Amino acid sequence: MEQLRQELPGWVEASRLKAKEGRVAAYIPELAKAPAEALGVTVIGPDGEMVSAGETSLPFTMQSISKVFTLLLAFMDNGEEGVFAKVGMEPTGDDFNSMLKLELVEPGKPFNPLINAGAIAVASLIHGSTSSEKTERILRFFGEAAGGERLGYNEAVYRSESATAHRNRSLAYFLKDNEVLGEEIDVEDVLDVYFKQCAVEVTCGQLARMALLLAFDGTDPLTGKELIPRRYVQIAKTFMITCGMYNASGEFAIRAGIPAKSGVSGGILALVPGRFGIGVVGPALGSKGNSTGGVHLLETMSSAFDWSIF
Ligand code: GLN
Repeated sequence: MEQLRQELPGWVEASRLKAKEGRVAAYIPELAKAPAEALGVTVIGPDGEMVSAGETSLPFTMQSISKVFTLLLAFMDNGEEGVFAKVGMEPTGDDFNSMLKLELVEPGKPFNPLINAGAIAVASLIHGSTSSEKTERILRFFGEAAGGERLGYNEAVYRSESATAHRNRSLAYFLKDNEVLGEEIDVEDVLDVYFKQCAVEVTCGQLARMALLLAFDGTDPLTGKELIPRRYVQIAKTFMITCGMYNASGEFAIRAGIPAKSGVSGGILALVPGRFGIGVVGPALGSKGNSTGGVHLLETMSSAFDWSIF
């Protein structure tokens, strides 16, 4: 932790140069307001000790990072079989919002739960009798994973995405047509849950705390409480390695070699198994939708401390 404390500020400054190569996501209009040059990171150890550098007080929305935690909740609600009846286990190599492979292999069944189509299918599995009850369960579960109270979502980002999500709507209706979303399921209700989970607002510290829980296989090292069964965390971490950085997951596995999940807000949740939880934000994205500064920073940290799990 001490070496990390000394090195981190310099590494953040060096990675900021990379941030200049990226661009803030604009397809959700509200996200375009984020500061492109910002970069922040928090690392938390098992005893709760924290090291931060850069703009760690900047709140940001989880976006695709939320998919890991809704997947975990869906496992707890439905078991492995229930979830894998609706989504597959394979990476696509395509963009996160692609519909290309949806018509191939098993028509309508998304390849994995971390692409948009898969995450929408997963959102439909969250228990609750109304969409607001489902959302409420998600907010409480995310808050618990972050070691605190229920988290909230950013209303402006939620509305902005909901008003412009033509592609996600088309994916969801395609799933409905192929009965991945069953007869009892209202497509707009599922999308509402999905947009709200994506708009959940966090800081680097909260994200790092959520990552710490995964680093310790679902048992919070600070309280000793088991929040998620180990087997489900194991599956989620495997998906993070194979699909967590979209179609740049192979490259990130080679260069950093740690489970991570990114979002189009520029957030990245990463972890070093049995050791650290990490939360990063850097809104400028590269061509594959990952934070350019954030990826560079994680690669730098991982190679300096030999964190790769491989
Ligand atoms: N809400 C975003 C979307 O559905 C999440 C995508 C992402 O972070 N890659 O497009």
